Amino acid sequence: MAENFVESARALFLSGKPAEAESLLRKSEDPWTLIHLADLILWRAPFDHARVDEACALYELAAKQYPQISKASIERARAMLQAAPDPLVEKLNELFGFSEFRPGQREVIDALFKGRHALAVMPTGGGKSLLYELPSQVFSNATIVISPLISLMKDQEARLHSQGITNALYVNSSLEPEETGRRLAEFRAGRCKLLFVAPERFTLPWFLQMLSEVRVDLVAVDEAHCVSDWGHDFRPDYLRLREALFQVRPKTVLAVTATATPRVRSEIIDKLGLQNPLVHVATFDRPNLFLSVARSSDRIGTLAATIRDTPGSAIVYVNRRADAEEVAGGLRNAGLSAAHYHAALPSEVRSSVQTDWKSGKTRVIVATIAFGMGIDKPDVRGIFHYQYPASLEDYYQQIGRAGRDGQPAKCIVFYDPDDKGFHRWVLEQEFPDRAAITQVFNFVRDGLDQEAILRFGGGAASTMHQAALTVLEQAGAIRRTAPGKFETVPDTPPVARLDLSEVERRRRQSEERLRAIENYLEGRACRRRAILEYFGEHFPSSWSCTGCDRCRTLGTPETKRTPAARQAVLDSIRQLESKRMTLNQMARAILFLGKPIQGLTETDVRDLLHTMVREGIVEVNPQGLWLRMKR
Ligand SMILES: [Zn+2]
Repeated sequence: MAENFVESARALFLSGKPAEAESLLRKSEDPWTLIHLADLILWRAPFDHARVDEACALYELAAKQYPQISKASIERARAMLQAAPDPLVEKLNELFGFSEFRPGQREVIDALFKGRHALAVMPTGGGKSLLYELPSQVFSNATIVISPLISLMKDQEARLHSQGITNALYVNSSLEPEETGRRLAEFRAGRCKLLFVAPERFTLPWFLQMLSEVRVDLVAVDEAHCVSDWGHDFRPDYLRLREALFQVRPKTVLAVTATATPRVRSEIIDKLGLQNPLVHVATFDRPNLFLSVARSSDRIGTLAATIRDTPGSAIVYVNRRADAEEVAGGLRNAGLSAAHYHAALPSEVRSSVQTDWKSGKTRVIVATIAFGMGIDKPDVRGIFHYQYPASLEDYYQQIGRAGRDGQPAKCIVFYDPDDKGFHRWVLEQEFPDRAAITQVFNFVRDGLDQEAILRFGGGAASTMHQAALTVLEQAGAIRRTAPGKFETVPDTPPVARLDLSEVERRRRQSEERLRAIENYLEGRACRRRAILEYFGEHFPSSWSCTGCDRCRTLGTPETKRTPAARQAVLDSIRQLESKRMTLNQMARAILFLGKPIQGLTETDVRDLLHTMVREGIVEVNPQGLWLRMKR
C-alpha cells in the first residue's frame, strides 16, 4: 500500500506536479510514506523554518521503524537550514548592493521588525539611512521619515530612485501644490512606501488626518537630536512629534542621529515617548583622522602653510560670516585656491561655490557652520577650525566630513583663548532675559510675523528674538498659526510670571558644552580618547590611539628610535613603495614583514613614519596619498 502511494507520488513529481505529489503522500500515515513526504517537503522548502520543523516531526514519527534514516535526515535538514541564505541579506544585496550589514544595523532592523522601538546613534556616513530604507521595502505598509532638511530630502529621493527604489517620495514646501497633491495621492494609494516629510508638515492637523486613513508601519525620526536643540537650530515641531506619533500609531518608531551624548540620548527617548527602545550606539572612532590643536600668533599664515602641506580638498570652519570672507581672501593671497561660503550669500552663489569645491575646481572652502549638511565628498583631506566651535558635538560632526574614503585626513583646531569672549557673547544672545522676551511677546501681540520680528534690531538681535519666540512658544504664551506666523494665546499668565527655568537649564547645558570643548583644547590627554569618552565610549585595555598631537609627542621614546630601527623602516619603505600604501597601511606592512625592529609597536612605526615625512626623507605623493621615498 505504502509502496503504491510512494510510486504514484514519484510519478506526479517527475511530471512536474510536486504539490499534487505532496497531497497524495499526506493520505497515508505509513512510516515509509512519511519519510518520503518529509523528503518532498524539504525539497520544496529547504529554508522555510516552519516547513523544516514539519518535515523533522514527520521523520520523528517514522523513527520507530527507521531510526537510522530518520536521525540522519533530521540532522541534514537542520544543517541545511543553518546554511540557509539570509533573506534580509539577500534583500540588502538586491536593493543596495551590499553583501553584509555594518555593525549594529542588523540588530536595529530586527528590533523594528519585532515591533520594538529603536534609537540608533551612528556617525555620519555610518549607514543610518539604511535603517529605515531597507525596512520600508520589506514592511507591507508605509514608512514615514521625518527629516529636518528640505534640500537633503531631494538628494535622498534622487539617490533611492537611481538605485531603482522608485516608491520613495518626498513632499515639502519646495514643490508646487499640484505636485505635492500628486505625491500624496500616490502615498494614499499605497504606491509610495517611503515618504519623507519635515516635522512641520508631519504635525499639521490635516496631515495627521490624512495619515489616519493610511496604515503606517514605521516612522523614522531623522536628526533626532533636534528634540534637544535650541535657538536658531530649534525646531519646535520636534517637540510635537510625541503627540503626533501617538495619533498615527505606527507599529514601530526609529530615532536616528549622528550626535548624541548620553544625556541627549535619554532626552530623545523621553521627548519622543519611546517605550523600552533598543538603543544602539556605534563607535565614533575614526582611526584615519589625525586630531590636533594648534596655537599660532599668525593664524592665517600657519593655516595657509598647513593647507599647502595637505593634499586634496579642505574645509576651513569659521564662526562669523565676515571671517569667512576674510580668511578665504587671506588664503588666496597666499596662493591657494579658496572660496567662502555662508548663509547670507545668494543661493545661486552658494550652490556654485559648493559645486566648484565638490568638483575640485576650488581646493579650499572657508565656511560658517551653514556649510556641510548633506555634503558627501569622500576625499576631504583636511578640516581646519579657524576658531573653535561651541561644543564637541559640533566639532565632531564637522570633522566627520573628513576622510570618508577611509584615507588619512587632518583635523586641526586653531585655538586662541581670546575666542572665549565671542562664545560667551553668543550665549547671551541665545538665552534672552525676561525684558527681551517681553519685547518679543509684545511684537507678536502687535501682529508682527516672524520675519519682521527677526529683522527688528539687526543681525545680532535676530538670534535673541528667535530664542525668545522659542521660549514663548514652549511656555504656551504664543502659538503658530501658519509657518512664520504667530498669535498670543489668551488667558496665559503675563510674561512677568512666565517660568524661565527651562531657559536657565538650557543655558547651563550650553555653558557645560562650551567648557567641555575648552577643556579638550587645553587638555594634555589623548585627543581621541578625550572626545570618545565625552560621547560615552569605554575603551578596552588593548585600545590605542591611531593619531593625535598628544600621542605623537608623548609617543615613542627617543631610545626606541635607534639608527637600526630607522634603517629597517627605510629599507621596508623602499621595498613597499611601489605597492602604494597609506601611512597606516605602510606601518602595518612593515611590522608584518617581520623585520626584527626591536620593540617597536605599530604606533611607534607610524610615529617614525610621521617623523620621516616631516624630516623630508619620506613623502606622501601629492595625488594618491601613498608613501614613498623622497625623490
Ligand atoms: Zn591620541
